[in-house]
Order: sequence, then structure tokens, then C-alpha cells
Amino acid sequence: MSIACNTAKMTDKNGDLSFLNQAPSQWRDEPSKPIGYAPREETVFLSGGLTLLQDKLVEAALNSMNINFIALPNPDFKSFQTGKAFGNRGQCNPTYFTVGNLVKYLQKLRDEQGMSSEEIVRKYVYITAGGCGPCRFGMYITEYKKALRDAGFEGFRLTSFEHDKGIFQGEAIENQLIDFNPKFFVTLVKSVIIGDILNLLGYKMRPYEVEKGSTDSALAECKEIVSQAFLSHKSLLQAMWKCRTVLEKVKLDRIQVKPKVMVMGEFWAAMTEGDGNYNLHRFLEAEGAECIPQPILNRLLLSLWEAEQALNQNEGLAAAHSKSIDFANVKKRLLIRAGKAAVKTHFTLYAKAVGLHDYEIPNMEKLAELARGYYTLECSGGEGHLEVAHLIESVKHNLAHLVISIKPFGCMPSSAVSDGIQSLVTSRYPQANFLSIETSGEGAANFYSRVQMALFKAKQSAKEEYEALDIPETIPEKLNHYLYQPKNEKAGTAAQLIYSITV
Ligand code: SF4
Repeated sequence: MSIACNTAKMTDKNGDLSFLNQAPSQWRDEPSKPIGYAPREETVFLSGGLTLLQDKLVEAALNSMNINFIALPNPDFKSFQTGKAFGNRGQCNPTYFTVGNLVKYLQKLRDEQGMSSEEIVRKYVYITAGGCGPCRFGMYITEYKKALRDAGFEGFRLTSFEHDKGIFQGEAIENQLIDFNPKFFVTLVKSVIIGDILNLLGYKMRPYEVEKGSTDSALAECKEIVSQAFLSHKSLLQAMWKCRTVLEKVKLDRIQVKPKVMVMGEFWAAMTEGDGNYNLHRFLEAEGAECIPQPILNRLLLSLWEAEQALNQNEGLAAAHSKSIDFANVKKRLLIRAGKAAVKTHFTLYAKAVGLHDYEIPNMEKLAELARGYYTLECSGGEGHLEVAHLIESVKHNLAHLVISIKPFGCMPSSAVSDGIQSLVTSRYPQANFLSIETSGEGAANFYSRVQMALFKAKQSAKEEYEALDIPETIPEKLNHYLYQPKNEKAGTAAQLIYSITV
């Protein structure tokens, strides 16, 4: 519960200062009068804010479990402005974008579709992830409630699962409307994983497509195939196999020298595909680059890794005080292991079926080892040590010509902690081409120009890497097929392909 003064009482038009003698009251997020909410069967659930593809797959996955769910449209600048208008000052911009996006959607229902605020509050519920922070993330739920109340939707219901407990959270939550049981999480995770795989393939293919727009059209078809498989409870593996036949039709010309750019940073800023990061991925592609996006899989595995670390510490403390075995911890550990195995197995199976062969599932232990010595691993919040680990990994294994760490203005874990440490990393790895960039302290023009400057250097590196190779006179046709994905010490796609047939 957040504590704040009730400022409404302090604005007395007549200049009456008697409020100064009143004890400050605590701000409460309960509605001021009782509300007769609609029963579960009439309730409409809302959420959103992942990638465009994932939002739609999540919608199909939840609809397949008889949850009347609608994915909200992608947050845009109007959402951000709405969030700012109704939110507290000093929040980070994922809060403004996501909170504003919900308020904007409800305003549209009210102002354009003629629903009353009371009916909206009675029937709609928003699903979100909650958590204890330690950054501003811990305040999200309260922010939603405050903004919704001020926008005229007092009492609007929110239901949340804790992002760091996820699949292991079988207990009832306050005002629970959805049973956050293992089936819910497994179905949700499947849709997110499939979205990751299709997105990863899309980013590998789009920069090399011969016909503009053909990759996006193929991905739209794949989205439809997978959605139908969810809704009709058919095999998702078969659906992914079918997607392979769709993607195979996209004609590629992959012997084009393009810099590879790893986009990482704060989870939401790095993942969103829209105004929330000035459309960074599409901007990079338009500027002639190939992106390596951060899949949501990273975040899932980090949450599991953090849960395991917390358990280890817990057990270490218990052992130090010679307590007997805590069977709840043993059960938790087994569940974490099962969760990790399930996530990795599903990812591998779906990736193989659709033909994503060269993607290595992030090894959280290895990443933690890379960051150890730079970042206190016990420090959670945001992406924790992952940003530092990604940069080191990228340099050590020559994964990209440029690493961009994107974060909302003033993001505590990313700007205030990771970026401070990255200067030590770049001083130890001077070959790193690293750009840290914020999304709202700087205007779009400044943002794009900084990206372009870093890209200039990346383009040079990609060219030098390619020109150092022994280029054959004729290029085998297989190099232009998306299923041919050699892995070697080169970073650029064209260089990887040529190198694979010349050594
Ligand atoms: S990680 Fe940064 S942007 Fe994300 S909730 Fe925390 S402070 Fe905000």
C-alpha cells in the first residue's frame, strides 16, 4: 500500500488553512462505494504490452481456456500522454505507456462506443504482472489504480500474478478472477515462446527479403495458423511445421553486408515495437541493419534463475542456523527445475519445427559468471546483471557489430546501475561498439542521430569483416534459404554464410 497525503483536501479555494491542523490521511485504493461487479462469465479481461505478434498469440491462448480476453492495441504516444496526464510524477515511461494505454482504451469504450463508466468498471478487468520491485515496478498496480480513479473509472479491477513467482504461484490472490494455475501459465508461456521464435526468425529474414513486406505477410499467416491451433486445441508442433512451409516461400538475398545490432536493455523498452522505443527495431532495419532482439524467454529464464538464487540463500541461512530440512524449499526447487526444463524443451521443439536452428537458449549460469566481478549478482530489479553480461558475451563471442542498451529515461536499474558499470566493461573491452540510449529524456531526432552515429562504425566493421573473406565467384543457392543458418566466429550474416563455405 502506498502512503501519500490526500492532496485533494489541501486545495481550498477560499484560502482556508484549517487543513494544516488535520492529521494527514492515508491514500487508499479501495472504491469509495460498493460496486456490483459482473459475474466471471460476463467479464472481459484485458492486457497487452508485449510484441505485436505475442499479444495476439496470448489472446488466442487465453481464449482457448475460455477466458474472454482482448489484447489491447500497441501503446503509442497518445497512451504515454494519457499516462502522464493521470499518473503520478516521476514514474518511468513503461508505466506511463502501459497505464495510459489502458485508460485510453477505456475512454474509447466510453466516448466512442457509448458504454457508461459504470458498465466498464462492472465488466472489465485488467491482467498485469506485479512484483515487489525493487525499482518502480513495485508501484505499478497502485499507479494503475490511481490513474484509473482519476480518469473516472474508480473501482476498475486489476488482477495480477507476480512475475517472479509465475508458474509456482498456486495460491489465491486478492480479488482473484482467474485461476493462475499451472495450466494457465503453461499455455501462456507456450504462446510467448512461439511468439519469440517467430519474432527471432522475422528479424533474421526481413532485412534480406527480395520483395518488401513478404516476411511480415508470412509472419501474419503464421500468427493465424498458430492462433487457430490454440483455439481448436490442435498440435502446436504441427502448426509450427506448417509455418515453416509459409516462411520457406519468402525469397531472400542474404549476401548483403549489413551490420548486426544487438538490442538489449530494460525489458519493456528493448522489447516493445512502437513509440515506446521510437520504433527502434524498424528504424535500424530501415537504416540497413539486422537486429538481434531480446526474446521474452530471457526474462522468463532470469526470473527462474533469481528464484533459485533466493532459494539458495534461504537454505544457506537455514543451514547456518542449523535448522532442519525445509520441505517447502525442496518442493520449490523441484518446481523451478521442472519450470526451466519445460521452458527449454518447448522452445527447442517449436524452434526445430519451424526451422530456427542457430539460436542458443541463454545460459543464465554462464551469463551470471560473465557479469560476476562487475555486478553484484544479488542485486535484482530490472534486468539485474544481464545487461552487463550481454555486452561482455557479445564482445567475447563476436555476436554483433553494435550493442544498443535502451532504457526509459531515469530507469533505476538500467540507467543508474548497469550503465555506470558498462563504462568499466568498455574500458576493459575497448573493441566494444556500445551505445546506451534513453527513450524519453531525449527527443526522437536526437535519439535517431545518436543511433545513426553508432551505426556508422558498425557498418564499417561489417564491411571490413566481409571484405577480409575469400569471396567465391558463384554463390551457392542454399545460402539464400532461411533454413541454412551456419554458426561461426563471424558476426555479420553475409560473412557467416560465406565463411561457412570457404573453410
Ligand atoms: S526496470 Fe526501470 S523502467 Fe522498468 S520498472 Fe524498473 S525503473 Fe521502471
